[in-house]
Amino acid sequence: MSATETAIASAEAHSAHNYHPLPVVVASAEGAWMTDVEGRRYLDLLAGYSALNFGHGNRRLIDAAKAQLERVTLTSRAFHHDRFADFCTRLAELCSMEMVLPMNTGAEAVETAVKTARKWGYRVKGVPDGMAKIIVASDNFHGRTTTIISFSTDPEARADYGPYTPGFEIVPYGDLTALREAMTENTVAVLIEPIQGEAGVLVPPAGYLPGVRELTRERNVLFIADEIQSGLGRTGKTFACEHEGVVPDMYVLGKALGGGVVPVSAVVSSADILGVFKPGEHGSTFGGNPLACAVALEVIAMLRTGEYQERAAELGDHLHRELGLLAGGGAVEAVRGRGLWAGVDIAPALGTGREISERLMEERVLVKDTHGSTIRIAPPLVISKEDLDWGLDRLRTVLSA
Ligand SMILES: *Cc1c(COP(=O)(O)O)cnc(C)c1O
Repeated sequence: MSATETAIASAEAHSAHNYHPLPVVVASAEGAWMTDVEGRRYLDLLAGYSALNFGHGNRRLIDAAKAQLERVTLTSRAFHHDRFADFCTRLAELCSMEMVLPMNTGAEAVETAVKTARKWGYRVKGVPDGMAKIIVASDNFHGRTTTIISFSTDPEARADYGPYTPGFEIVPYGDLTALREAMTENTVAVLIEPIQGEAGVLVPPAGYLPGVRELTRERNVLFIADEIQSGLGRTGKTFACEHEGVVPDMYVLGKALGGGVVPVSAVVSSADILGVFKPGEHGSTFGGNPLACAVALEVIAMLRTGEYQERAAELGDHLHRELGLLAGGGAVEAVRGRGLWAGVDIAPALGTGREISERLMEERVLVKDTHGSTIRIAPPLVISKEDLDWGLDRLRTVLSA
């Protein structure tokens, strides 16, 4: 057996089969390239679902992590540490908000947003105890905890995990009328992705996000934007909401915030809203730890210059122009997205998204399918134009075979 086959057989024997990875075993990576255990190089057009916006082994991020590893890595929130205040201050600044509540994974940050909205609903809005409702969108992806999958519309994510957490109302994504009709006095929040990543990089109709902003403001409801995948440069702006000139009440951040080095997530909002928490009412042992803060501080410093956002916008225009040409040819049915982020619906006759991903892997390009015949393209923002063009060439080869 090859080194690849041995590693995969062993993983299959000893790990739960809750994923179906492409049959490549990565041993090292740098920038937009990964090298497998047999020395083959692959172009990474997935970037860890946007966790690797700054590329693999980014020098600034690795140096920041190494320096912090030598000083102090974990204190728990029982004590202050000297990177914490800076992290919260700088992240709040980047978001033009006031307060930060740090967690680790995206799902934990979404859980934090849900808890914040409920507490705000009872303490500030005056919703009767136990009656708070949060409105979410169909085809959402907000993570994998029991509460979060309770309001998923994906049977794979949800089946067999009941009983489900109540208090959520699902409306069609992009439909303002349905949203207006779903709102009651007990609605405390609307939780949506400004662009739905897992659903296939679905961009809502123009005017939707401003409409959500207007409705939520009118009805004294919190607008929570899950920018875990769309935020921090991916779409050509710091936040996807900016494309529509919208400022939500709360950002939920994760993925790229940890620079592909450590899991770092956060809820960022106003003092009125995050001020609902008192000591002991919510927390996380690892949330806001010194190592996480040191890496995230470097991420924030990199985003502050705007160069990554600009790069995503420029390369994204190029990507969408090239994909647009493919869309005329019959092999591609639709292309969606914004910035360096695209969902590509392949003509089903050419194969499933999985099959296309496997053929691209043979061509040394790594992407991942979402649903059906859709593949998602989200390269690290540091990819060179030449490498991106090389990847697009490989895609053309696969689609014309
Ligand atoms: C990935 C993702 C999450 C969950 O993040 P985890 O770190 O995997 O828990 C939540 N929301 C969105 C939009 C995501 O893309």
